[in-house]
Amino acid sequence: MIELPQTIDVVNYQEWQTFEPYYTELIERQVSAENQREWLQDWSDLTRFWQEVQAYTSIQRTLDTGDAEREAAYLAVVKEVRPHVEKAEQQLKQRLLQLQIDDADMQVALRNLRDEVDLFREENLSIRSELVELSTDYDKTVGGLSADWDGELENLNQLAVHLDSPDRAERERGWHAIMGLWQSIKPKADAIYTEMLAKRHQMAKNAKLDDHRQYAFRTRKRFSYSPEECYQFHDAIEAAFVPAVERILERKRKALGYDTLRPWEWVPEMGKVVSTKDKPLTPFASEEQLTQQSLDIFHNLDPELGHQFAHMAEGGMLDLMTRQGKAMGAYSHSLPYRKLPFIFMNAVGSGRNVQTMLHEAGHAFHGYSVMRNQPLVWQMRAPMEFNEVASMGMEMLAAPNLTQDRGGFYSEEEAARHRIEHLEKTLIFFPYMAVVDAFQHWVYTNVDAASIPANLNAKYDELSERFLPGIDWSGYEEIRATGWQRKLHIFRYPFYYIEYGMAQVGAYQVYRNSLQDHAKALADYRAALALGGTKTLPELFNAAGAEFRFDTPFLSELVEFIEHEVAQLREQTT
Ligand SMILES: [Zn+2]
Repeated sequence: MIELPQTIDVVNYQEWQTFEPYYTELIERQVSAENQREWLQDWSDLTRFWQEVQAYTSIQRTLDTGDAEREAAYLAVVKEVRPHVEKAEQQLKQRLLQLQIDDADMQVALRNLRDEVDLFREENLSIRSELVELSTDYDKTVGGLSADWDGELENLNQLAVHLDSPDRAERERGWHAIMGLWQSIKPKADAIYTEMLAKRHQMAKNAKLDDHRQYAFRTRKRFSYSPEECYQFHDAIEAAFVPAVERILERKRKALGYDTLRPWEWVPEMGKVVSTKDKPLTPFASEEQLTQQSLDIFHNLDPELGHQFAHMAEGGMLDLMTRQGKAMGAYSHSLPYRKLPFIFMNAVGSGRNVQTMLHEAGHAFHGYSVMRNQPLVWQMRAPMEFNEVASMGMEMLAAPNLTQDRGGFYSEEEAARHRIEHLEKTLIFFPYMAVVDAFQHWVYTNVDAASIPANLNAKYDELSERFLPGIDWSGYEEIRATGWQRKLHIFRYPFYYIEYGMAQVGAYQVYRNSLQDHAKALADYRAALALGGTKTLPELFNAAGAEFRFDTPFLSELVEFIEHEVAQLREQTT
């Protein structure tokens, strides 16, 4: 048995020497049929510990991107320690694959491990570290952006609030402030991305693959669909979602009495679309309120989920409000050693933040359930496409509890408005998702052309034209064409975006089921979450009561369902 420390004090885990004896012992231990389970468990426990060190240093860094010590700790872990761990892991995986493991719950994990072993190249470890550094550079560049707004310095998250303003002039001014900041870092973003492309292409070559798309599909464990099916999904989005988005935008344009909608009325990369109401929703004012009311919502949905959320809050696992120096965005990160998830947000009090809370809590419930239900780390790792069903499914399942009488933030009418805005945003998201995905398919299969920023802009513009209707961009064409620079995923996580679209299709189905039988839909959802990584992606969808399907007839049916729901909710508002 390996004796691991009880607490993670990251200062002590920035050197490979600290981990080395544990890995060496596992590599050298005699393994037979009698003790293979114990060996696996020890390796799993060590991996949980290592994963927590990574998670913890990463979380600490995002809480204060200006703190040099935190950044150094994070970089030491990913650049100094991780390559050694991965080398040791490669040896352990090779041993594992020689063992006879018949356990049905390990078969998906073994398939994944076999592929990882096959794809492993030692020379790619240093390239990965260099890519981490480039990502960090991008993060810092973007995180450090701020502009003066009436005498106050506002970061991008704070400036984004102006895009929610009912005052068109304020939206326009906010949009210009935001775009001005992005345009100011354009040369730097070009340089970072070009360098990333070259490095990613090299990794694929080292692994004897044609391009980084092949590499990314395998590292992302996309065994249930191919690039061809992604293209079909894009086509289905063009056929089913683009017309629905046109209908939404046209309705908004008419309600607002505008001749045309302008770029500050729909900012897809920030998930912003103009509201036709004269005041934004202001559901909460403080972290305490957001925490308490979220707890009430989850408790009313399912006491067990309420208990899990309370456990996280009491354990200091929530950091919700925005502040200067915090990294952008929101996430939930599992801390597998203490078996608790951490939720990070940049809340400012908006309705969108409530939605983000439901989303991240869905991830957190998934992590919580998996960490406590699956004995081995490899069984805990669910595919990303399904991870987002957990989060987006929670957004759908918890929606009826947004009213005050069920623990939530709103009156009946406000809740209906919130839900309409959310459902419309999910529809509006698909065409944008298709742009981000199609863009990267082109980039990574045309590396030479894509190394010239002007070509990237031209491609992005072409895709915007195809998928993003309804906005008059005249005078701002250059800003439209550089939209790819404003999407973190394109820089940090190549190809990681279509997962959101696939998962939303799953979440729509969870929602549709919940209207038939809410208790059963919730039970299926929770049961599917608990499966972790023990089933294939289509099997996980099925367990949650959903089909893994992305063709035009099926998507048209779901779009029709969501538009019908929106129409019904609209009757509850005036
Ligand atoms: Zn998510």
